[in-house]
Amino acid sequence: MIEIRGVRKSFGGTTVLDGVDLDIPRRNVVTVIGPSGSGKSTLLRILDFLEHADAGTIDFGDGAVDLTSTKSADIRKVRSKIGFVFQNYNLFLNKTALQNVAEGLIYAKGVKADEAKRIAREQLDRVGLADFADRYPSTLSGGQQQRVGIARAVALNPELLVLDEPTSALDPEMVNGVLEVIRQLGSDGMTMLMVTHEMRFAREASDKVVFVEGGSVVEQGSPERIFEHPEQERTREFLSSSN
Ligand code: ADP
Ligand code: MG
Repeated sequence: MIEIRGVRKSFGGTTVLDGVDLDIPRRNVVTVIGPSGSGKSTLLRILDFLEHADAGTIDFGDGAVDLTSTKSADIRKVRSKIGFVFQNYNLFLNKTALQNVAEGLIYAKGVKADEAKRIAREQLDRVGLADFADRYPSTLSGGQQQRVGIARAVALNPELLVLDEPTSALDPEMVNGVLEVIRQLGSDGMTMLMVTHEMRFAREASDKVVFVEGGSVVEQGSPERIFEHPEQERTREFLSSSN
């Protein structure tokens, strides 16, 4: 189990996260849903130290790390366990798909170039892009670019894959291919924490759904619980407005 405790964050006096606790069981897919502006991206960014929390910890089972820490040892320890998939892919535009995936292996993990390329090819194959290894991002569709983004994160063999609305920048016809890749990773046992507004995906592919509003977890549980029998009025209202 990966345990996140007491995450707080304010921007200029406005509270964005108001003490968030979250358990992510290993090999589970946990989806986070909630209205825009409720702090979902901030929470994910804090977990990877892309943003510093005002309070909070994350524990992968080997000791809690303070999410307010600025020590490079703490930051490295957590980052080495997390793969991050961004809404807008964040690929290097001057590098091929293969180079984008191999890059992190070479620089973050010290893998030799040949071995990094071998692993990168394997990961591109896994996301259905074996034939696109030498393409530059600008020649790929949004869906293909996002699959490169996923391959890049997964290549580092993270303990937790974090995805922030990975399909929300895509044209509708690209969405299913990317969700299918994510669903497959879940079946392969990848532990995932994903923010999504794809309610059908959340319902069908997650083990646990967490509804966040106003910087707090309002309600969480199995997809059946949250979608069929929400206990909180706010959850019911959100679900009826997003269908
Ligand atoms: P969500 O992902 O749920 O839409 P965010 O985490 O992106 O929500 O944002 C939550 C709130 O925090 C929003 O009101 C947003 O404007 C604010 N916010 C996010 N990042 C920053 C920042 N770097 N500086 C100031 N305000 C921010
Ligand atoms: Mg967001």
